[in-house]
Amino acid sequence: MSEEKKPVFYPNREFAKQARIKNMCEYHDLMNWAKEDYEGYWDHWAKEKIDWFEPYTQVLDESNAPFYKWFVGGKLNVSYQCIDRHLEVRKNKAAIIFEGDRGDKQIITYLELYRNVNRFANLLKNKFGVKKGDRVVLYMPMIPEAAYAMLACARLGAIHSVVFGGFSAEALRDRIIDAEAKVVITADGAFRKDKPYMLKPVVDTALEEGCDCVEKVLVVQRNHEDVVWIEGRDYSYNELIDLDSDNCEPEAMESEDPLFLLYTSGSTGKPKGVQHAQAGYILWAQMTMEWVFDVKENDTYWCTADIGWITGHTYIVYGPLAMGATTVMFEGVPTYPDAGRAWKMVEEYKINQFYTAPTAIRVLHKMGEHEPEKYDLSSLKVLGTVGEPIDPPAWKWYYEKIGGGRCSIVDTWWQTETGGHMISPLPGATPIKPGCATFPLPGIMAEVIDRDGNPLETGEQGLLCITKPWPSMIRTIWNDPDRFVKSYFGDAKKDGKPVYFSGDGAIVDEDGYITITGRVDDVINVSGHRMGTAEIEAAIKKHPHVAEVAVVGKPDEIKGESIFAYVVLKDVEDSFGEEAELAKEINQVIAKEIGNIAKCDTIKVVPGLPKTRSGKVMRRILRAIAKGEEIKQDISTLEDPSIVARIQTCVIG
Ligand code: ATP
Ligand code: MG
Repeated sequence: MSEEKKPVFYPNREFAKQARIKNMCEYHDLMNWAKEDYEGYWDHWAKEKIDWFEPYTQVLDESNAPFYKWFVGGKLNVSYQCIDRHLEVRKNKAAIIFEGDRGDKQIITYLELYRNVNRFANLLKNKFGVKKGDRVVLYMPMIPEAAYAMLACARLGAIHSVVFGGFSAEALRDRIIDAEAKVVITADGAFRKDKPYMLKPVVDTALEEGCDCVEKVLVVQRNHEDVVWIEGRDYSYNELIDLDSDNCEPEAMESEDPLFLLYTSGSTGKPKGVQHAQAGYILWAQMTMEWVFDVKENDTYWCTADIGWITGHTYIVYGPLAMGATTVMFEGVPTYPDAGRAWKMVEEYKINQFYTAPTAIRVLHKMGEHEPEKYDLSSLKVLGTVGEPIDPPAWKWYYEKIGGGRCSIVDTWWQTETGGHMISPLPGATPIKPGCATFPLPGIMAEVIDRDGNPLETGEQGLLCITKPWPSMIRTIWNDPDRFVKSYFGDAKKDGKPVYFSGDGAIVDEDGYITITGRVDDVINVSGHRMGTAEIEAAIKKHPHVAEVAVVGKPDEIKGESIFAYVVLKDVEDSFGEEAELAKEINQVIAKEIGNIAKCDTIKVVPGLPKTRSGKVMRRILRAIAKGEEIKQDISTLEDPSIVARIQTCVIG
C-alpha cells in the first residue's frame, strides 16, 4: 500500500520531563528487559506493585498452555489493593467523584469508600449468604453503588458479572443463566436527560424464565420510582445497608481465582463470558493507569465509559483505585443539557486526564464544534481514546480544540480479553501519528504476523497477535474451555506453538508503528477470492459523497458470495438524483483502487449504520438484512435500535 507519510506529533516537553516514562530510550530499555528476562521483568513489577498477603512461588506456569497461570501460590485481595492499603496516606483523598445526570454531586473519600464497600460486603455475606466463588450479576446505572458492589464482591471473593444497563431482559437473562448467578444487584432505575428510566422491571422480566439459580435481588433506590416488589426475593439496599458493620475481613484469594466475568459486546457472534483472574489483572490495570495516563497524586481522572464494559471495569474502577487515584463517575450523557456538558465538567473538576471513545468525540464535534471554547480546559494533560480507530477530523479537533495542542492523545488498542491496554502511545515518550495505536506497551509482545508466525512486509496487513502470555489475559471462557482455545489459539502459530490471535488485522509501517485495520474475520469470498471488508470499505470511502460505509457478503448461488454495501452520505443533498448513478461511480472507485473483482453487486444508501454503543458496526445485522431475513438477534445493545427498521425500509424499498 502506498500511503503518504503521516505527520508526527511529539510529546509536550514540560510534560515529558515529569512523566513516568520520559522518552523512547526508557521505553526501549523496559522492552529489552522484558525480552531478555520475561519472568524476571514481571516478577519485579508484581513484587513492587501488589500488596501480597502471601508471596507467590512461581511467576508463570505454562505447563497447561494456553491455560496460563501467573504468580502461582500468591494470595491477595483486590479490594484491599484498591482501598485498604491507601488508608494510611490517602484516607481523606477523594476516591470517587460522582456527578449525576441532574448535576447532583458526591465526593467519596478513600475512608468512606472503605466503609461503604465493607458494609456492602457484609450485607451480601450475612443476608444473602454470598461466599467465595459465587456469581453475582450487576445490572446497574452509573452510580457509586455500582463500584461498591464490584469491590464488595472482590472483597468476598465472589465473581461479579456486570451486564450493561442498556441490555434487554433477554440479553440479561442469557447472561444470568450462563453464569448461574445466585444474586442480582440492580437499581430501581436512574436518570437520563433529566428523566427517570427504569432497570428493575427489566430484571423482573429476565427472571420470569429459567433463572432458578437466582435467590435474591438487591435493589438500590436511585430514582425512587415505583417498582414491583417480590416478597422474599427482593431487598432494599437503602433499608439494609446501615444495619451492617463497616468492617469485613478481606478474603485471601489465590492469584488465579476468578475475579470477574464480562460478556463481550457480541459484535461478532454469541457473547463470550470472558473470565479474568485476580493478581495479573489488577497488576496490569494499575501499571497501565500509571504509564498510559500518567496520573499523578493530585490529579483528577475521568473515563466516560460505562461500567458495563471492560473499559469501565479497568479504567473507572479497578485501575484508578488500585493506584490510589481520584476517578470521576458520571451518570448522564455528555450531550445533555447541551454538547458542552463534558467540557463544563472538565473545567469544574479540573480534569487532568480524559478518556473516551472516537464515536463520542465525533458526536461532540458534530453537535458542539465551538462548545469547548466556552470553557477553561487548561487542566488537561492527557487525552485518551478506545474502541475503534479514530478518524483524522475527529483526531484533529480533539487534539487542537480539547487538548489545546499540548496534550498527547493516547489511542489505546485492547479488548475485553486483554484486561488492559496492549498497544498505546506513552504520553511523555511516544511521537504520535494520528489514527495509529503506535507501539506495544513495555512487556507486551504484540506482533503483526501471518498464520505461521512470519513477520509481514512493511505496509502489508497481517494478524495482530500477542505471542507471549501476559498477566491480565483472559483465563478462559466461562463454562466453555474448548471455545476459549478455538476462539483465540486456533488461527496463528509462532515457532510451531499456538499464540493468542486478537481477531484484528493490523499493519506495521516503515517506522514500526502499528495501525489497526479492523477485524480479519470480516472476509467476503467472491468466486474463490477472499477479500477483507475493511479494504473494500476504505476504497468506497474515497468517493467524495460517502461519510460511512459497511460492506457484507450476501450468499450467491454462482459466486458463493456477492458484495453488498450500505453507504451513508455526507449530506442528504448528496443523494442527488439516482442511487444507480452513485452506485456506478462508487464501483468505478473500487475498480480503480482494488480491481473489478471487488465491485459491489448492491449498493444501498441508508440513513445510518447499526452501531453498538462503543461505535462498532454490527455486521451480522447487516448480513441478515441483505439476505432479507427477519431480525431475530437482540438489537438492544445498539446505540439506536430504530435504525434497523429504517435500513430495512431502504433495502426493501
Ligand atoms: P465481540 O468480541 O463480542 O465481537 P467486541 O470485540 O466489540 O465484541 P470489545 O472487547 O469491547 O468487544 O472490543 C475490542 C475490539 O475493539 C478490538 O478487538 C478492536 O477491534 C476494537 N478496538 C479497540 N480499541 C481500538 C483502537 N484503539 N483502535 C482500533 N480498534 C480498536
Ligand atoms: Mg472482540
